[in-house]
Amino acid sequence: MIIPHAKVGSSLKNKTGGWRSQKPIFNPELCKKCGLCQLHCPENCISGVEMDKKVEERSVAKTDYDFCKGCGICAKVCPFGAIKMVEEEK
Ligand code: SF4
Ligand code: SF4
Repeated sequence: MIIPHAKVGSSLKNKTGGWRSQKPIFNPELCKKCGLCQLHCPENCISGVEMDKKVEERSVAKTDYDFCKGCGICAKVCPFGAIKMVEEEK
């Protein structure tokens, strides 16, 4: 029998457990506030880049590690190399 760890609902209702093997580190000095990572994150846990604001009024991207699953998509899509995936400390 399979016992699901996540309840039915949006990804922002299901906290990541201790199983994440990698996590993204955001470098605020390289972030150009383009919002691509925020757009592509399947967990919708990246925030900070308010696309309705002018670039100079936006804050840099950041993620909520309670919900980040460590998939690495954000690091792949960032055109400025501002996100680096690192191994989780166990
Ligand atoms: S994709 Fe990269 S540069 Fe663009 S908002 Fe995300 S971290 Fe910043
Ligand atoms: S690693 Fe995946 S889940 Fe975590 S912030 Fe990046 S795109 Fe979102």
